[in-house]
Amino acid sequence: MLKDKVAIITGGTRGIGLETVRVFKENGAKVILFGSRKETVDKALDTLKSESITTDGYYPNLNDYDDVSKTVKEIYDKYGHIDILVNNAGISANKKIEETSSADFKKIMDLNVNAMFNMSKAVTEYMKKEGSGVILNTSSMVSIYGQPSGVGYPTSKFAVNGMTKSLSRELAPFNIRVNAVAPGITKTDMVASLPKEMIEPLIKTIPLGRIGEPRDIANAFLFLASDLASYITGVILSVDGAARS
Ligand code: NAD
Repeated sequence: MLKDKVAIITGGTRGIGLETVRVFKENGAKVILFGSRKETVDKALDTLKSESITTDGYYPNLNDYDDVSKTVKEIYDKYGHIDILVNNAGISANKKIEETSSADFKKIMDLNVNAMFNMSKAVTEYMKKEGSGVILNTSSMVSIYGQPSGVGYPTSKFAVNGMTKSLSRELAPFNIRVNAVAPGITKTDMVASLPKEMIEPLIKTIPLGRIGEPRDIANAFLFLASDLASYITGVILSVDGAARS
């Protein structure tokens, strides 16, 4: 479904991002994964190598536009085109507002929103040159319902939806599609770090009766990245087992 497409996946070192690397590779893409540090990138590349999957890995500072743009240019020069960007790197929060500092709030916005802007801006130049491209963003079900603590996280994901919808309109004339996937609770380290008392009751309310697997989300990215979704842009696709909390 993605034969010879060149795809950059941020937050590709574990969880949803790492599984998306696997699914894109299974479907013929050339994948470049981004992580936050050399050690985590090397670990992910080693894990993939042990599964006979080869990819490139980089660890630019996503909040430094010059670093992002230099890295994206290096990838463009090496591969000749950039067809797909999956903006997946993200962090969450669950503290009450009194316990949340403005630095905590800024940290979430910096990665979940500002880094997404930097990456999208950096690839747009090359996608415009090609006359096509796909930008996919990782939103969340909290971008629809909010959540009862950790206000920075849903705030950032509402912004992700806003960026998705706005850029889809701005870039449509250049044949660049921009969509988001809004996962429900998905079995990754991000969820493992949240208190059991918070997660277990939520899982019980999911109509499909189970937590999401990273592959459930990766398959949605695959569909949206592929030509099967050629007339779909500006969509926030819920992949949440009909969870409504
Ligand atoms: P995870 O914690 O397993 O992975 C997060 C990824 O982000 C890692 O690859 C990590 O390297 C990267 N990252 C973290 N800080 C970074 C930084 N400062 N710079 C660059 N990269 C950084 O989480 P996950 O569950 O796989 O989450 C992936 C995305 O899915 C996030 O955007 C998250 O908000 C979203 N999401 C997750 C769930 C869930 O239940 N797991 C639900 C909805 C949305």
